[in-house]
Amino acid sequence: MVSRVIPVEPFDLVIFGGTGDLARRKILPALFRRFCAGQMPHEARIIGAARSRHGADEYKATVRAAIVEFVGGNEAQSDALEGFVDRIDYVTVDARGTDGWAELAGKMRDGCVRAFYFSVAPALFGDLAERIHHHGIATEQSRIVVEKPFGNDLATARALNDTLAEHFDEGQIYRIDHYLGKETVQNLMAIRFGNMLFEPLWNSQYVDHIQITVAETVGVGGRGEYYDKAGAMRDMMQNHLMQLLCLIAMEPPAKFDPDAVRDEKLKVIRALDAVEPHHIVRGQYQALDGEHPGYREAAGNPRSSTESYIALKAHISNWRWAGTPFYLRTGKRLVARSSVISVVFKDAPHSIFGAEAGRHANVLSIRLQPNEGITLQVTIKEPGPGGMRLVDVPLDMTFAEALGPEGGDPPDAYERLIMDVIRGNQTLFMRGDEVEAAWAWADPMIAGWTARGEVPKPYESGSVGPDHAEQLLRRDGRAWRGIKP
Ligand code: NAP
Repeated sequence: MVSRVIPVEPFDLVIFGGTGDLARRKILPALFRRFCAGQMPHEARIIGAARSRHGADEYKATVRAAIVEFVGGNEAQSDALEGFVDRIDYVTVDARGTDGWAELAGKMRDGCVRAFYFSVAPALFGDLAERIHHHGIATEQSRIVVEKPFGNDLATARALNDTLAEHFDEGQIYRIDHYLGKETVQNLMAIRFGNMLFEPLWNSQYVDHIQITVAETVGVGGRGEYYDKAGAMRDMMQNHLMQLLCLIAMEPPAKFDPDAVRDEKLKVIRALDAVEPHHIVRGQYQALDGEHPGYREAAGNPRSSTESYIALKAHISNWRWAGTPFYLRTGKRLVARSSVISVVFKDAPHSIFGAEAGRHANVLSIRLQPNEGITLQVTIKEPGPGGMRLVDVPLDMTFAEALGPEGGDPPDAYERLIMDVIRGNQTLFMRGDEVEAAWAWADPMIAGWTARGEVPKPYESGSVGPDHAEQLLRRDGRAWRGIKP
């Protein structure tokens, strides 16, 4: 099955922080792939902007090197690379100064979409918004893209929303959560709202519980200083896992349009109960055989009480979900890299096969990475003679296989999201009130463990996390599903 590519309108995309890590690793490779796919029109232009003094040719060389490093293979060696690089320009701009702004204003073309990607430290978002406005660089149709983290708590998120709102309408602000750009996340909505099969069962009457796991094998690496001020709650739970929770739990929106979808997500966040302290487990990874440093060493803070792992049990107080727990966990240096949502259905009310047939629950697993796909675990008779024994087997739909080789790999999340910015579609971006509501849910938990002086539980690198997290489910007569690559 070959996916259809519809070219977007011509655009000028300014990447503030165009020389930084995110631009080189994600944004420029994503744009290059869309260029190769024929989605980026030839009139499109990408302007890198940062304080470093580069000529346009020097920056083009940086872009070429980034594509070779992060896209690699034949793709990066093709003629397409030169065609792509021809669309690149550079301006030396200081977000906090006067340098470069007039030059940037002079480069903007009339009659095409203007988008400004803020790929710089969040402390600069307000400065950029103010200067873009002051220098008359933005039109009413211009868009700004802001990266995570969006605030550090409710107060800072609110302040940032207010600052951006001084210069841009909410309809012009695209807050990125790259999890929302994943193929499977959108498929989650297609599966729920495009089929009759699941939605009648999608409630507390039939669903025993839901698990959301985002496991990483990497440690904090070079991000130790930032991470130690954030921790797994701020870095992952409040944003990525919260967004997944919203999509799995929300009511069907009346239509697939940005505000209809985001209104429903917001209702989920607002219906979340406060999480009780004994329903939260925080952990910190330990060193592994002298091979990998432990969290505290990696973070450069020997007395750190920041969590590199968090698991919690959440409840949504509404008609659909009353009584169904949502178990969420995320952590670093775990046994495998795996992001999965599992909807665990209740057992059949009565087993006609007797107690010896055991308990068999259907599980719908939505894998976000690696190998994006969906598996439905169903119960069948064990093949062969000798009585009625039951086994659980997966009905597996790995997208790469199901859609065939012509389908290619699904586009990277950044590819889809940047094209959505150009198209002016905000469905997969967080609205300001959603972000604030998510902080309002997370803040009391953080304040609680800070006030109690809690120290995270140690866990072995390469494990499934602290044992206390296993107990969180064991107490309820349940178990986490395995973390498998
Ligand atoms: P980075 O590697 O430190 O790059 C920062 C960029 O900002 C550089 O291009 C830098 O260039 C530019 N810059 C710094 N001060 C500036 C100023 N006053 N005016 C104009 N440009 C300035 O950071 P990054 O890792 O790319 O992260 C960028 C943003 O993305 C951050 O908000 C981060 O939280 C977010 N993010 C990053 C990742 C990731 O994987 N890297 C993932 C998720 C979110 P000059 O020094 O030359 O000015």
